Amino acid sequence: MKKIAIIGCGISGLYFANLLQKNLEYDYTIFEKRPNLDYEDGYGIQLSVNSIKLLNKIGFNKINSYEVFNPKEISFFDAKTVKKICKIDITKFNHDKNYYTTLKRSNLIKFLLKNIPEEKIKFNIEVRDIEYLAKIKINLSNNQSEEFDYLVVADGVFSKTKSIILPEEKNIEFNNSVALRGNIKNYEKEDISLYLGKDFHFVIYPVNQNKEFNFISIIKKNLKNAEVFDVSLFNDDNFLKSLTNEIYNKTSVQLEGKIENIKSFPIFVSRSLKISSKKNTYFVGDALYAYPPSFAQGASQSIEASTEVFEEIKNNGNGYYNKRIKKIKLVNLRSRLNHFIFHLSNPIIVFFRNIILKILVKNKKFLELYLGKIYRN
Ligand SMILES: Cc1cc2nc3c(=O)[nH]c(=O)nc-3n(C[C@H](O)[C@H](O)[C@H](O)COP(=O)(O)OP(=O)(O)OC[C@H]3O[C@@H](n4cnc5c(N)ncnc54)[C@H](O)[C@@H]3O)c2cc1C
Repeated sequence: MKKIAIIGCGISGLYFANLLQKNLEYDYTIFEKRPNLDYEDGYGIQLSVNSIKLLNKIGFNKINSYEVFNPKEISFFDAKTVKKICKIDITKFNHDKNYYTTLKRSNLIKFLLKNIPEEKIKFNIEVRDIEYLAKIKINLSNNQSEEFDYLVVADGVFSKTKSIILPEEKNIEFNNSVALRGNIKNYEKEDISLYLGKDFHFVIYPVNQNKEFNFISIIKKNLKNAEVFDVSLFNDDNFLKSLTNEIYNKTSVQLEGKIENIKSFPIFVSRSLKISSKKNTYFVGDALYAYPPSFAQGASQSIEASTEVFEEIKNNGNGYYNKRIKKIKLVNLRSRLNHFIFHLSNPIIVFFRNIILKILVKNKKFLELYLGKIYRN
């Protein structure tokens, strides 16, 4: 029986564990730094058909339909005037019974945990050190050691485990933007609404059939290094107020008093793509590569990467990184381009951007190249 250590109990680690769980050939343990998982998080997540197809293979299609929403369109608006610029019909990319889906993150985590026996997850534990002997020996923060055949590193954008394996690399950077997240009840527009403004954008979408919506804004912010890592700043009421006021003043969408549970956090992205040359060691999800969130692909790519690592281990292959790097480059280019285009500020450039957007969303070839290439894995 092959023994596999999974570091991190997020979307990528849990999806990978689900694949192993269905297979008697593997024994695995998930090591999670936190004391428990957050089930109360009501914020949303968008999952495009590439990950839905993979999730459906482990039974996601049986999730209570009340807890998910299948958007049909992404509508683009000018945030200031609320004039509609254009829309994309995303049902074009749905196939078989795989539909673009939005839901609460907590419900996705609950679904991924459903088939994982409790004893498989060891909470409050981090990796301290790794020794590559005949097997992979992992020294843990509880002063115990365990040996494994494979190591799957899924501990997110700040991956401490990756920095143990590649100590010389400082691989993440502040994206000069902060996220502002909240919930809205009874928003007037169904489907996904994307509002483009000067140095910011925000997206509102339903997270279930109960008229609950997710609000997420990405706002350009130049912060000093000390501020970026200051958790108290992001929890500070005045800082939150300054961010929300900035949005309220720059849009005619009536948001004031409507957004609940507002939180903010800095956005970090990968500086470069670093892979492991150590035997049987795989980085997945944000630990492998974290994109700017403007293409809503991080979780979907995490699920794809976990599937590919599972196939690699099952088939004794060695092409995981080659294949993944190609996909990362495609997604990264689109994520960074979206971020740039969404935040344009010069009125003349914005005028031409909007005309170009109107033309492009009607061009089947372009949509297939820009979205289809990513959504059809
Ligand atoms: C504002 C924002 C909006 C986004 N929206 C979307 C979206 O709509 N759609 C989409 O597809 N993606 C979205 N993403 C990206 C997506 O959230 C991430 O790509 C995805 O969660 C990555 O999953 P992961 O499992 O790799 O990492 P994580 O979800 O970060 O999980 C990592 C896990 O490892 C644990 N951990 C951390 N350090 C250690 C350690 N040293 N030892 C053990 N455990 C550890 C953590 O506690 C956590 O449980 C968004 C990202 C942001 C910032």
